[in-house]
Amino acid sequence: MTTRRQFIRSTLIAAAGSACVSETIQAGETAALSPIIDCQSHLYVPEMVALMKKRTTDPLVYEKEGAQWIKMGDWHRKILPKHMDVPAKIADMDANNIKVTALSINDPGPEWFENDGPAVAAVMNDFIAQIAREHPGRFVGLCVLPLQDRPAAEKELQRCIDVLDMRGILLYTNLVGAWPDEPQFRWLFQTAVNLDVPILLHPAKPATTEQVKGYDLTSTMGNMFEDTIALARLIASGLLDEFPKLKLVCPHLGGALPYMAGRFDHQVTVLKRSNQNLQRKPSQYMREQVYFDIVSPQPLAMKFAVEFSGPDRLLFGSDHPWVDPKLILDSLRSLHLPPEHEAAILYNNASKIFKL
Ligand SMILES: [Zn+2]
Repeated sequence: MTTRRQFIRSTLIAAAGSACVSETIQAGETAALSPIIDCQSHLYVPEMVALMKKRTTDPLVYEKEGAQWIKMGDWHRKILPKHMDVPAKIADMDANNIKVTALSINDPGPEWFENDGPAVAAVMNDFIAQIAREHPGRFVGLCVLPLQDRPAAEKELQRCIDVLDMRGILLYTNLVGAWPDEPQFRWLFQTAVNLDVPILLHPAKPATTEQVKGYDLTSTMGNMFEDTIALARLIASGLLDEFPKLKLVCPHLGGALPYMAGRFDHQVTVLKRSNQNLQRKPSQYMREQVYFDIVSPQPLAMKFAVEFSGPDRLLFGSDHPWVDPKLILDSLRSLHLPPEHEAAILYNNASKIFKL
């Protein structure tokens, strides 16, 4: 296993200045509006981008037409300038009355770096925690873990919660081909319950990449299938009965799964398929034990989610900087929900989950 020190020394990369930007933008004068917590918002870690530029195997970073691109197999994404710009993120938060952001890295996570995973996780988590420290009250961190190395992951999780004051775990929907419901990851859910921290089930490089890479549909379709499949598997595994106190947040309105809940229920209750581990209908687990974030800029989809899950099970998220928070906020506000329902979605639910 590579230690953090060895890792840093071997890469000889410093993200000078990037992680230490002092806050220059003060909160806007928008106190009359309901405050907002953004539960899905990312930054690339400059030190990791620099490292990935030196790699010859995936995940790696290359330059094209003046931009940096990240390559994971057949998935190529342009890194946006705001992905490494903390003042720009704060400016966008202020412009949208976002009081606090639960900040996380942008993928790839530590599981992509084999034996370097523990060192990579430490670099990533230290970066996110440092930003939270430098901007008190504006950010809380979500940690990532080197799940290919359980002892290291357990240690890093404890460090992130106890030492770095991080408030949750960003768990990828697939871990270089493995799914979070598989037995080797069961300890993580138990530990999250013991520590009383939420797990955000964030899309990873899609297991369906081969099927969706045409026409550049990997993010459009593949990431949403990730949420759909990973959550369906977690439910079908019986994990939510095993951990009734687990705080599980599924982004993007759960992909397509809530929309297909009737089919899932029918398969389980009538056709007796995927019912081996279940005590209730799949839709009940979705409604009673899963939080969804509303990063899905379609008012009709949000309306369905409000009716399906209720306002106490939804959280505001933007997926900044991929998505302008205003797009999600405008979609939500177009529903003209009762103020108390809107406040629950925008602030109160997340405030409880992240212990703000
Ligand atoms: Zn995201």
